[in-house]
Amino acid sequence: MKAENVQEFVNVSCAMEMNKLYLCHMITHLFFRMKSAFKSSFIVAGVGLPAIAFFWLSSNGYFKSAENKANTSKVATTDSLENDTLITLIAVGDMMLGTNFPGPECLPKGNILEPVQEFLRAADITFGNLEGTVLNEGGDVKKCNDPKTCYAFRQPEYVVDYLKSSGFDMVSVANNHMGDFGAPGRLNTQRVLREKGLKFAGLETCPTDTFHVKGLVIGMTAFAPNSGCLRLNDYEQGKRIVKELNSYCDIVIVSFHGGAEGSSKQHVTKQKEIFLGEDRGNVHEFARVMIDAGADVILGHGPHVTRGIDSYKGKFITYSMGNFATYMRFNLSGPNGIAPIYKLYLTRKGDFVKGEIIPIQQLGAGGPTLDPGKRIFNVVRDLSTQDFPETKWKIGDDGKFVLVK
Ligand SMILES: [Zn+2]
Repeated sequence: MKAENVQEFVNVSCAMEMNKLYLCHMITHLFFRMKSAFKSSFIVAGVGLPAIAFFWLSSNGYFKSAENKANTSKVATTDSLENDTLITLIAVGDMMLGTNFPGPECLPKGNILEPVQEFLRAADITFGNLEGTVLNEGGDVKKCNDPKTCYAFRQPEYVVDYLKSSGFDMVSVANNHMGDFGAPGRLNTQRVLREKGLKFAGLETCPTDTFHVKGLVIGMTAFAPNSGCLRLNDYEQGKRIVKELNSYCDIVIVSFHGGAEGSSKQHVTKQKEIFLGEDRGNVHEFARVMIDAGADVILGHGPHVTRGIDSYKGKFITYSMGNFATYMRFNLSGPNGIAPIYKLYLTRKGDFVKGEIIPIQQLGAGGPTLDPGKRIFNVVRDLSTQDFPETKWKIGDDGKFVLVK
């Protein structure tokens, strides 16, 4: 398919998704209105309309995600009856599962997510940042002064199967590597994600996506300071998108790729962060602006190290989840080689109830495994206390955490 045709296909697909969503909500609203207006015919409406809605949704593939979960043996959370009413969200940071550029030597033998799959699958929604394009060959590689240190990531299309079989439902594609292979890379990534059924958001051409779970509509959008992506620093655009999502979604997830990078940049400065001459945003302010506009969860990444966690208006914020699954081409020494898997328990309105950190490490060429030393617990604990003293977390030795009122 020629590049322009792929573009057209992507835009049409996104538009169709939005239209279906509005229809879905109209049916739900119609049902509730009729229920109150015609109480005497409640039984007819109560049985008939949901049946019609179920038929319509089934025919449009709305229960496909649930089926996929069963196929990839996602495990329902069964801690207690209380947990059954909560929504569980797994979130991780940067993922680059291997690149065929500059050559096949940068590809691992199999799926590097395998050692932690059981944790990734154990939630209603699993999210991560896809740090690089999905393209088997070709594309317009970005210009680099030194080809040896040119970090351009071109992941083969089969990595999307790896992500799906490991439990991922949604990925952010708003980041500084989505443009590594120009328009062909960006467009092919969208095509493959859509064809393989992995939800994604964060590009100007595909700003949002939705996911249906436990009778709720989950909306997602993502921001970065890079071309082709929804702009992290354009608050007016961000607010518009989040408000619109909030008008038809029960829970709104906002992801961002921002802040300066590296082991000396673990603190949130609460100011604009300029890195390599680029304005990487004031992530503290961004999180608050998005929550004020209707966001329920803020999932940050980009600094390649873990940053603290925060809360505002009862919502959960992580400013960076570090390198989660990055094969070769990444510095994994010291704080760059350890990261959290966050498991969040949310109310059906998206308020934070409790959380859990599953500690991982990346050794050698990379790929996540459980960290027996659980080093990330103290990192998150210390950074959160130092940077957000007004937010009181209690993070236990088992990684479970709650807000102290
Ligand atoms: Zn990045």
